[in-house]
Amino acid sequence: MALLAKRPNGTQDVVPNEVYKWQTVESVVRDTAQQFGFREIRIPTFEETGLFVRSVGDTTDVVQKEMYTVSSSGDKTFTLRPEGTAGTIRAVIENGILNDGLPQKVYYTLSCFRHEKAQKGRLREFHQFGCELLGAASPSADADVIALADSVLKRLGLRNIVLNINSIGCPECRAKYREALKAYFEPHRSELCATCQDRLDKNPMRLLDCKSEEDQAIAKDAPLITDYLCEDCAAHFETVKKQLGIMGIDFTVNPKIVRGLDYYTRTVFEFISNDIGAQGTVCGGGRYDGLVETLGGKPTPALGFAMGLERILLTMEAQGCEFMEEKTCDLYIAAMGEAAAEKTVEIVTRMRDEGFFVEYDLVGRGLKAQMKYADKIKAKYVIVLGDSELESGSAKLKNMATGEQTDISLGEELLDDFGAQYYELMMSTDDDFRSFVEAFADNGDDK
Ligand code: ATP
Ligand code: MG
Repeated sequence: MALLAKRPNGTQDVVPNEVYKWQTVESVVRDTAQQFGFREIRIPTFEETGLFVRSVGDTTDVVQKEMYTVSSSGDKTFTLRPEGTAGTIRAVIENGILNDGLPQKVYYTLSCFRHEKAQKGRLREFHQFGCELLGAASPSADADVIALADSVLKRLGLRNIVLNINSIGCPECRAKYREALKAYFEPHRSELCATCQDRLDKNPMRLLDCKSEEDQAIAKDAPLITDYLCEDCAAHFETVKKQLGIMGIDFTVNPKIVRGLDYYTRTVFEFISNDIGAQGTVCGGGRYDGLVETLGGKPTPALGFAMGLERILLTMEAQGCEFMEEKTCDLYIAAMGEAAAEKTVEIVTRMRDEGFFVEYDLVGRGLKAQMKYADKIKAKYVIVLGDSELESGSAKLKNMATGEQTDISLGEELLDDFGAQYYELMMSTDDDFRSFVEAFADNGDDK
């Protein structure tokens, strides 16, 4: 029978054999964000279309070309979120979170949807880890947010990731810069792509991140925003750079980064990998001091970033980074005969309640096939139960790595005896387990 439907272009399945890679990244981002004082926020997958048009900006690629918009009854349309910031800021305002004291720091991992030409590192459904810090205007906030992204990348074991930073100033510096850009591009108007001809009137800065090669060549000698910064913006940028220096974070100032979304002000940054081809930006972010007010909140300075998790995983794979090991079964109980099968269910239930990862036969296999299956799923221990074990009340516990067998009682002592064996095994084979136990023991000594 033919498959009824195929996976849509630009989407991915994560199969159980691969999911440990995602879980590694998810646990590192969660732990690191928490350490920096960020708390998780969860928002809807779709929002009113106007939210993205207002915040991302109506001259951006995202709004002009990439949104999945659906109409519902009435005249409202909804759009699958193309990014996480707009919905997050909407939720922060709507839930009065800013009244709870400042700064507020939130993070999320979520799926995003953009109708793009699918290719390596560019999908139609992709995932972002992002964070937003609200209510802090100081340059230290910029450096701290960059430090969070930097820590995540380092803890994942990534190397050779280049941090580019820039300042795109405030609306005042930008007004002058805008005029300079217009003057520069005007003589080339007819050579620009159709979208950029329109942008030249509405928002000339967008010309700088057009993906067309011809437009990029024309933009090569365009004026640089860094030459147009007002005194305050220039001072802010200097302090961000100084603070990054104190933190030991390497960076390059790249006056060409303007970022693809309209809401940025002052500091913008990108982390770029050279190991995954053209789609190398693994993280992008910056300050967006005007956005909260634009969306109907009290004027509140804010900033954040979003990391593309598919691109992070591609880079980790390309660099041979280590992933968290998948948990394997602690004990497989192989049973022969009906009475043993019933006893197995009873034991398995008790052991699972105690927190052990235990499996047994569900498909009616013979003993040999059960043993083969236990091996395949990498069970740490196996117990074989048959009539004679039930009669004697004792069975052999086999350590699958060493082949060593010990007697184990099937009575009340089973859990304690298995627990003791398991503890020994974990202490000798699992570094994380050992350091956890040792840390726990040290804490106990202090008291
Ligand atoms: P690009 O220039 O590559 O199109 P962007 O400027 O559109 O990126 P942002 O809107 O800043 O990207 O999104 C933040 C991050 O999300 C990017 O740095 C990237 O890692 C990831 N990302 C963006 N679009 C996609 C996509 N279509 N597929 C996979 N990851 C993406
Ligand atoms: Mg894009």
